[in-house]
Amino acid sequence: MTRTTDCRSAAVRAHRLPGIDYDAIPATLAEAAVEPGDVQYASVRSNYLRGGSPGLVLRPRTTSEVVDALGFARRHDVPLGVRSGGHGISGRSTNDGGIVIDLAALNGIEVLDAATRRVRIGPGARWGEVAQALHSYGWAITSGDYGGVGVGGLATAGGIGFLAREHGLTIDHIRAVEVVLADGSVVRADEHHHPDLFWGVRGAGSALGIVTSFEFEADEVGELGFAQLTLDASDTAGLLRAYGSVVEAAPRDLTAFLILGPPRRGRPALATIMAAVDSADPDTIVERLQPLAGIGPLLAQQVVLTPYPGIVSLPEPGPHHGRGEPVTRSALVEHITPEFARAAEDFLHSGATYFLQLRSVGGAVADVPPDATAYAHRSANFSAVAFGADRRRLDAAWDEMTGHFSGLYWSFETDRRPGRLLDAYPPATLRRLQAAKCRYDPDGVFRDNVVVPAPDEGELVAS
Ligand SMILES: Cc1cc2nc3c(=O)[nH]c(=O)nc-3n(C[C@H](O)[C@H](O)[C@H](O)COP(=O)(O)OP(=O)(O)OC[C@H]3O[C@@H](n4cnc5c(N)ncnc54)[C@H](O)[C@@H]3O)c2cc1C
Repeated sequence: MTRTTDCRSAAVRAHRLPGIDYDAIPATLAEAAVEPGDVQYASVRSNYLRGGSPGLVLRPRTTSEVVDALGFARRHDVPLGVRSGGHGISGRSTNDGGIVIDLAALNGIEVLDAATRRVRIGPGARWGEVAQALHSYGWAITSGDYGGVGVGGLATAGGIGFLAREHGLTIDHIRAVEVVLADGSVVRADEHHHPDLFWGVRGAGSALGIVTSFEFEADEVGELGFAQLTLDASDTAGLLRAYGSVVEAAPRDLTAFLILGPPRRGRPALATIMAAVDSADPDTIVERLQPLAGIGPLLAQQVVLTPYPGIVSLPEPGPHHGRGEPVTRSALVEHITPEFARAAEDFLHSGATYFLQLRSVGGAVADVPPDATAYAHRSANFSAVAFGADRRRLDAAWDEMTGHFSGLYWSFETDRRPGRLLDAYPPATLRRLQAAKCRYDPDGVFRDNVVVPAPDEGELVAS
């Protein structure tokens, strides 16, 4: 059924873009749909890090409305974006002139079975909301470092957070998903049903369909130690080497993120370490943090005991006002070798970046076999991400370091050169992804993020 009465004024209709048949919006979606002339448009057009001017934002509330939205979008030859929390770095869940399917209203959080800690969560929920809801049961699902990030984008890509070494990636906790496929069918995928889809959703889900709900197995997580340490990073390479050794030698209950900024106006480079210790025992917390505090001259420190929602806290609600495009590069690193540490110091001094972060992975992340999910780089001990302002400068400086990398995490990467796909998805993984793509999205409907080429599109190049 399509929209029968159009209440929009001539002034609103005047802002309509070519290529979109606004009068054919399904009746189920019409009321909540937002178009460029609508008052609400400013609050839905952009993402957290990216500006956009879509021609239409559809806001389904149920799986069947997602099916309607996708069917409508497929009848149009304009870009399609799928948005859950709007924090995409790699993905383009907003666009210019296209259609956005915004899943914010599919944000339920429901306990399915307390005995097995099985919970069902909608893609539009935020990780801060999830942390709060599960805390009352004494549970948590490892997610990321920022509570505003949406469940849909992170749980279809990986999920590298403060519990990674102890509990693995977010995707490692998925037990089943409900997916709207390109042809509008709704399927449940798990270990036994559509196992190839279940495999692909966990690492490259954006290429295969729209996930409308996730079933996760949460972990029991009590109070944690959480530290913020500031160190003088004048000897950047030395500090990096020490960070690598300490983290790799630490028990799994420690997960640390190191953030480096370049030296500015004669002041030394500074390092900030944010680290979680999955223990409520003060002695254990101090024991884990002491070696980290010693990797360079310590300038400031703060350690607190906090429940998980204190780490992944929810920001103030409000619309996103991102502008332009984020400029980032991502890499996975096996070990912080002296050579990589020197290269990273040079990179930091190159002026191409204002922010370099090295997150610890390894531990439980590496317990999962590389072929168990579409996130294959399980042996890396570190995930690196750098932000810059100038794409060409950042690429030139980052590309100098590629010899030190073993792959990349797609969610932190914005370089669209073809070689990046193989960096994120090694050949065997990519071949499996191509097979799943052929089966579940043969027309290439889902292209706003991981773009999987058809097998006959030629040899993939690792540039
Ligand atoms: C401030 C900030 C902090 C971050 N911290 C972390 C972190 O700690 N760990 C980490 O791993 N990542 C982190 N990220 C990266 C984040 O995981 C990804 O950007 C993720 O895609 C964001 O999810 P979202 O739903 O908010 O994004 P959206 O912008 O809504 O979506 C991004 C893309 O994901 C795909 N997608 C979204 N929903 C669905 C769905 N339901 N089904 C299929 N595909 C979908 C689409 O292709 C879309 O373009 C962070 C990003 C930001 C901006």
